[in-house]
Amino acid sequence: MSGNRRDFIKFVVAGAVTAGCPVDLSLLGQSGDAPKSQADVDGEDNRICHQVRDKGNQIFSRPPASAHHDVVIVGGGVSGLTAAYRMQHRDALLLEKEPHWGGNAYAMEFEGSVYGTGSAFLSKDEYAYSFAKEIGLNPLPIDSPDASILRGELILDTWGDGLNKLPYPPLIRESFKKFKKEMMGIDLEKRGRELFNVPFSEFTKLYPAEIKQWWDAYGPSNWGATGEDTAAAVAIGELQQMAAESRSDDRYTWPGGLGAITHKLAEILQPKYGERMQTGATTVAVVSGKEEVQVTYVVGGEPRTVAAKAVIMATPKFITRRIVDGLPEKQSEAMKQIRYIPYPVVNLIFDKPVFNHGYDTWCPGNAFTDVVVADWVIRHESGYQQKYNILSCYTPMKEDDRGYLLNEIGARKIAANVLRDFKNLMPGMTVDPIEVHIYRRGHPLYMSTPGLYTRVQPLVRQSMDRVFFANTDSEGPESTTNEGIRAAQRAVKQAEARLAGRTAPKEKAVAG
Ligand SMILES: Cc1cc2nc3c(=O)[nH]c(=O)nc-3n(C[C@H](O)[C@H](O)[C@H](O)COP(=O)(O)OP(=O)(O)OC[C@H]3O[C@@H](n4cnc5c(N)ncnc54)[C@H](O)[C@@H]3O)c2cc1C
Repeated sequence: MSGNRRDFIKFVVAGAVTAGCPVDLSLLGQSGDAPKSQADVDGEDNRICHQVRDKGNQIFSRPPASAHHDVVIVGGGVSGLTAAYRMQHRDALLLEKEPHWGGNAYAMEFEGSVYGTGSAFLSKDEYAYSFAKEIGLNPLPIDSPDASILRGELILDTWGDGLNKLPYPPLIRESFKKFKKEMMGIDLEKRGRELFNVPFSEFTKLYPAEIKQWWDAYGPSNWGATGEDTAAAVAIGELQQMAAESRSDDRYTWPGGLGAITHKLAEILQPKYGERMQTGATTVAVVSGKEEVQVTYVVGGEPRTVAAKAVIMATPKFITRRIVDGLPEKQSEAMKQIRYIPYPVVNLIFDKPVFNHGYDTWCPGNAFTDVVVADWVIRHESGYQQKYNILSCYTPMKEDDRGYLLNEIGARKIAANVLRDFKNLMPGMTVDPIEVHIYRRGHPLYMSTPGLYTRVQPLVRQSMDRVFFANTDSEGPESTTNEGIRAAQRAVKQAEARLAGRTAPKEKAVAG
């Protein structure tokens, strides 16, 4: 594509990367310590967040509590929304810093066509499936085992029948089969605990580079890490499930992915909660007292404090540890150990059919790892006509590259690289997308590193007296919408027990 033609395509950059920092800049004016420019502030640079960590709450003016609630829920992703849904009978306040609900499970629309910006699908055996039904959603079957584009060839059902068709020399094809056989033979029930603590690269290192390359696309897209940083049990479990899926795909979704769940939850809750559901409300301090917890948040540039008998923190831990006062050192240190990758999603919007060959297609060795067809699950519905072929290109990045997302030029370049590679994979394709959207997120997906599930996550979810920890990163072993929902249900149970004057039930230890 010539530079000139690319200039006609509209690039739209969305998502607040700097929002990784829980501190509203306007507050810092009060400390006389404001940084020179907002672009300097990133969740990982964290100069301001470090000031909060080091200097504590005296950096803020914390006004006295102006309201009292049974419970305050911080974070309006799927976990916080689920907690609010389960606590509808309570006087609960839900706070979200973004202008919309959904967190990493959030769908957007282009002229009536819905597309995902994050979480894509769930499995029938996950609790999230029945939860979706409970809230009135009808999960739609994907029924399309993952394909791959390898050496320019589309290989359907990669880890099923596709293994016989891989466009590699026979020796490499045989290695793929041998690798699959070896992984299928591992008893995860028995060896789970051991294999959560060793890197997956130990299992791929004796195999050809093509196998590592495939997993180094699949891993970052699904759990944020390449083989060296992946807990082996996570990848082996995925392969075992994929092999089962090639017989019968038990994954479900909606157009635009699991944003359908958060959208539905917000739709149910908003009429009931009214003012008690606040977007644009950044929580900056959670301070426990004997009888109550004080929560200070900033809304419209003004700090406000409310008091609650219980607080559910549904924010990711890299934020949580900076705003919850009095966390035990060991727990705070465990939270610090969780690593998160930067992960934009690039949506290519075509007004002609370009690629409708499979739901999720893997493209190792490119600027993006896989491409999802946004309306896949409704394509055969009677009366449905695809107006726009929207392709969601998943683009997980290395932690060191986070800075590229900070400004519009960097984000636009990432999107342009995705478009370039996509076009290279589609030889003969003559159409350009009418728009390219990039949704940036600085730290949306935690990495399933060795030891995280067995040693770190059991520590991070320990409740304090009146403060309980939800969010998907409390559970594991992978960041999923299902675990966000499960974490919320556990935190709600604990909060309810505390509100009833009983000791909160203990968090479950990791099995195995
Ligand atoms: C690109 C991508 C693809 C994915 N694909 C899948 C998939 O196919 N299937 C699947 O199951 N999972 C998938 N996931 C993972 C899934 O999206 C997450 O596990 C899930 O959405 C997490 O929900 P959560 O509520 O626990 O956390 P989050 O979504 O992180 O929600 C936390 C919320 O807290 C808010 N917040 C943060 N700080 C503050 C503050 N100080 N004050 C107030 N609010 C605050 C945030 O803005 C956010 O809305 C994917 C993730 C990504 C990034």
